[in-house]
Amino acid sequence: MDKIRMNTPLVEMDGDEMTRILWQWIKDILIIPYVDLQTEYYDLGLAHREETKDQVTIDSAEATKKYGVAVKCATITPNATRMPEYNLSQMWKSPNGTIRAMLDGTVFRTPILVKGITPYIPTWTKPITIARHAYGDVYKNTEMRVQGGGKAELVYTDAHGNETRQLIHEFKGDGIIQGLHNLDSSISGFARACFNYALDRKQDLWFSSKDTISKQYDHRFKDIFQEIYDAEYKEKFEAAGISYFYTLIDDAVARVIRSNGGFIWACKNYDGDVMSDMVSTAYGSLAMMTSVLVSPSGIYEFEAAHGTVQRHYYKHLKGEETSTNSVATIFAWSGALRKRGELDDNAELCKYADVLERATIRTIEDGIMTGDLYLISTLEHKQKVSSKAFLEAIAERLSALMQ
Ligand code: NAP
Ligand code: MG
Repeated sequence: MDKIRMNTPLVEMDGDEMTRILWQWIKDILIIPYVDLQTEYYDLGLAHREETKDQVTIDSAEATKKYGVAVKCATITPNATRMPEYNLSQMWKSPNGTIRAMLDGTVFRTPILVKGITPYIPTWTKPITIARHAYGDVYKNTEMRVQGGGKAELVYTDAHGNETRQLIHEFKGDGIIQGLHNLDSSISGFARACFNYALDRKQDLWFSSKDTISKQYDHRFKDIFQEIYDAEYKEKFEAAGISYFYTLIDDAVARVIRSNGGFIWACKNYDGDVMSDMVSTAYGSLAMMTSVLVSPSGIYEFEAAHGTVQRHYYKHLKGEETSTNSVATIFAWSGALRKRGELDDNAELCKYADVLERATIRTIEDGIMTGDLYLISTLEHKQKVSSKAFLEAIAERLSALMQ
């Protein structure tokens, strides 16, 4: 059989620890036998980030801007204990943070549903995608404690030196103050990324905030979304048969619980932080989540939602067998290959990506799974297999489906 050709390379960002091991196996066992894989390779493993003084992370983000599609392995975000372990000269920043800032992207996370793993909310029969705004609010705050009473004011000095003042509070005793901000440009980018993604996935988009209480701040989010929707997306949404829906965050939470899923929920930064953990936990496992960073200009970076699975890696280094779930990393590859195929009009590549996902899900639904899923699956004839045996079981099904 001829291998599937690729017209444009993917940007490949290799990573760390157990996921780096899985990365190589996924390529060798599932992809290279079928695809004449073309990638521009960047090693984001911590040792190489140290060697290049983190330039490799910046280079990989630049390459993503150039080619439009990247696939990223999980990477270590160094903390104090990593400093001696990797002999680091600096506590390098999170690559995800660097890449997100350079692409000005929004992260979309979607659960992968399989038979035998029932969400804690059993009526959620379709996935709920959370889109989290990744700039500003409480994550870029300024805050202080004040003591003994006094006056707190909000002061804005414009470009001409004119001041606008508003009283925050007249303190009679001790208290706390916090200053938040966001940017029209960042909110607009977030809105466009969400509208584009909804069109791409042909799913309804919900957006929620607390504009009844925050009549300027949250209301600005609501207005920007509505203005962009009316001007640029309304017709496209109608043509695609999908809708845009705004509601208050508390109403959204209630509706989400009562829903069957199957939509995209755009959240402000803090709401997205909290709700993505709730939604992913309710669906079962971080190892069964896809995650993609989408820029307002339509650049895509696919990754797994979980980390480098350090505990399993140390077992692997000791020569012990691991049972690490590779599904999210496989779906990062299939997502990237499918997007590359769509952009290049390469139907064969898109079809391969679909079949790879089907083979992966079929393996788990046939009862062959890694330890994390074995613990929660309700299938009767289930079998826990090693990291590599799981990939080989997928390869068998992939081979049958590719015939
Ligand atoms: P983690 O790698 O997500 O793993 C935490 C635990 O969750 C694991 O010990 C394992 O539980 C379970 N788990 C996660 N993914 C799994 C999988 N694919 N298969 C089976 N079990 C899985 O989080 P962490 O241990 O807190 O972080 C390790 C490193 O990852 C850190 O250096 C962190 O900076 C980095 N990180 C990177 C990213 C990213 O690049 N996107 C995201 C988060 C964290 P058991 O041990 O109970 O089996
Ligand atoms: Mg969180």
